[in-house]
Amino acid sequence: HPPKHARYAYRGPVPHEVIKTVEFTLPPLQPGEARVAVLAAPVNPSDILTLTGEYGLLPPLPAVGGNEGVGRVEEIAGEPNGLEVGDVVLLPVGCGTWSTHLHLPVKTLVPLPHDVDPVQLSMLTVNPPTALLMLSEFVELQPGDWVIQNAANSAVGGYLAQLAKRRGINVINVVRRESAIEAVWAAGGEHVLVDAEDLPKRVRDAVGEVHVRLAVDCVGGVHTEHLARCLAAGGTLVNYGSMSGERCMISPRYFVFNDLTLRGFWLSQWYKRAAAERRRAVFAELAGLVADGTLHARVQDHYSIDHVADAVRAAHAGARSGKIIIEP
Ligand code: NDP
Repeated sequence: HPPKHARYAYRGPVPHEVIKTVEFTLPPLQPGEARVAVLAAPVNPSDILTLTGEYGLLPPLPAVGGNEGVGRVEEIAGEPNGLEVGDVVLLPVGCGTWSTHLHLPVKTLVPLPHDVDPVQLSMLTVNPPTALLMLSEFVELQPGDWVIQNAANSAVGGYLAQLAKRRGINVINVVRRESAIEAVWAAGGEHVLVDAEDLPKRVRDAVGEVHVRLAVDCVGGVHTEHLARCLAAGGTLVNYGSMSGERCMISPRYFVFNDLTLRGFWLSQWYKRAAAERRRAVFAELAGLVADGTLHARVQDHYSIDHVADAVRAAHAGARSGKIIIEP
């Protein structure tokens, strides 16, 4: 079969209309490169925002979709640098992973364990580090501390709850619909509440008067303020996404009378700023936890490369039961 990838020549408000699956010709393999067959690649919210043009970093056009994923090495030209044909490898971020095949520099490929579900490994680069860093970069949390997060049924939300549990940190998980509660419970989330104007009361009713030190928001709109109102005086709210598409709305009274700190987080910036050693340590820890099954994300559906537009449409829809995965 000729190689295929999902590319877009323009950006537009309806993401599944701009992405097209096309055949392409792989150029000859250059020394120092490996041919990799892609095994799995997720469709993340940032992929959707890249197609609509709303993301903070946009590749030049035309571009191939897909930011992260895993593949299997099929051929190596020149020095293998410790890599072997057959190895399962993590693909470098932003390389256009919605593709059957890629030619990539050998030195950008990170070998992964063979006996782990490639679908779980394909989601390693973006969401697990976001969850881990949210718990470590803003507030020095101790066992017994309380954190509140919204979109708790998202992949990041699930990873954050799993990581917090390991550290003895309590998480109040907020979702926007009753039908998402069950999944968060099933994933080990102890306290799950539906977002509403009276969220602070719902929190008090569920867990009593607790001192919430950190709020983690990826929704925006009035939902930012709902979380902020649950924070103890001196608490920190971190926004890292905009699932509602609305600006974060928060009354000055919470800054003034509660001395809250409002922060933002973008993994791309962290990658640039963090020392190489710290980046390696974070990834080694997370790869281990995904490999041993401690960290996992729910998956709703799998699509072949020929149906990437359907995959994007499904990923863009709300109320999913998990990630949409492209398995070329
Ligand atoms: P998922 O695709 O796993 O889940 C999406 C979540 O968003 C679900 O909880 C969903 O709730 C919720 N949602 C969807 N539409 C809306 C809406 N209109 N209003 C409110 N909530 C909505 O997400 P990920 O875990 O992959 O990503 C979660 C967030 O993290 C995203 O905003 C993403 O951009 C951000 N992110 C940011 C990073 C950074 O560096 N700043 C890095 C990684 C992720 P429901 O099921 O009810 O539809």
